[in-house]
Amino acid sequence: MNCSAIVLAAGSGKRMGTAIKKQYLEIKGMPVLAYSLRRFDRQPFIREIILVTSPEEIDYCRTEIVEKFGIHKVKNIVAGGKERCNSVYEGLKACSETEYVFIHDGARPFLSDEVLDRLYKDVQLYKACIAAVPAKDTIKVADESRNIIDTPDRSRLWQAQTPQAFSLSLIRECYRRALEEEAAGLTDDASCVEYCKKGSVHLTEGSYDNLKITTPEDLPVAEILCDAYRYSNGGW
Ligand code: C5P
Repeated sequence: MNCSAIVLAAGSGKRMGTAIKKQYLEIKGMPVLAYSLRRFDRQPFIREIILVTSPEEIDYCRTEIVEKFGIHKVKNIVAGGKERCNSVYEGLKACSETEYVFIHDGARPFLSDEVLDRLYKDVQLYKACIAAVPAKDTIKVADESRNIIDTPDRSRLWQAQTPQAFSLSLIRECYRRALEEEAAGLTDDASCVEYCKKGSVHLTEGSYDNLKITTPEDLPVAEILCDAYRYSNGGW
């Protein structure tokens, strides 16, 4: 039990456009956020979970998610910050002195035991690794006027997912420095390690069904994936 997990749920969920934030929407009777919390809760290598949410939702998360769905390893529910990177940093400050930390978007409910196992193996080998899948689409880089300026070689493009797993001391130091220096474009955790040039980050095989629920069209897909996920993961 040498790992912490930080689960992020402090985003505003603007792109979903619903009155209820995406992390609290229910899929087949359970809020999105509860799925991944349960998944971490049952891993033998996870000692504690830090849940990061907005200040006004701390009580709601405690009673309506953590207590209601019996998630035992949540050690602390802390208030997040303005951007994702600020929320992660608040989570990192609340971690005990474990060896490794898994950082996960609360909006990704279908996290499998297989992906978590692969990350746990890789983080012990590489100290920094992220779940990722090969890009299926051709990706274009555009200028401000939306004209294409580059088409990177697709065989080298990967879509970053979460969890992203790190040595706790390494990622704490990288976040501290990147935030102090107001680094731009920190949309995931690996980018913080890249910014600080603290060695390479390994790509661990993720899963295409590790969907981040973001826009309304993700909801019917999530309903379908939910059954497959339950089947292949022995329930939750
Ligand atoms: O905005 P994006 O989809 O990249 O957010 C990824 C995750 O980070 C979501 O689970 C969201 O709740 C979380 N987040 C956060 N604090 C913020 C912004 C996003 O915890 N300020």
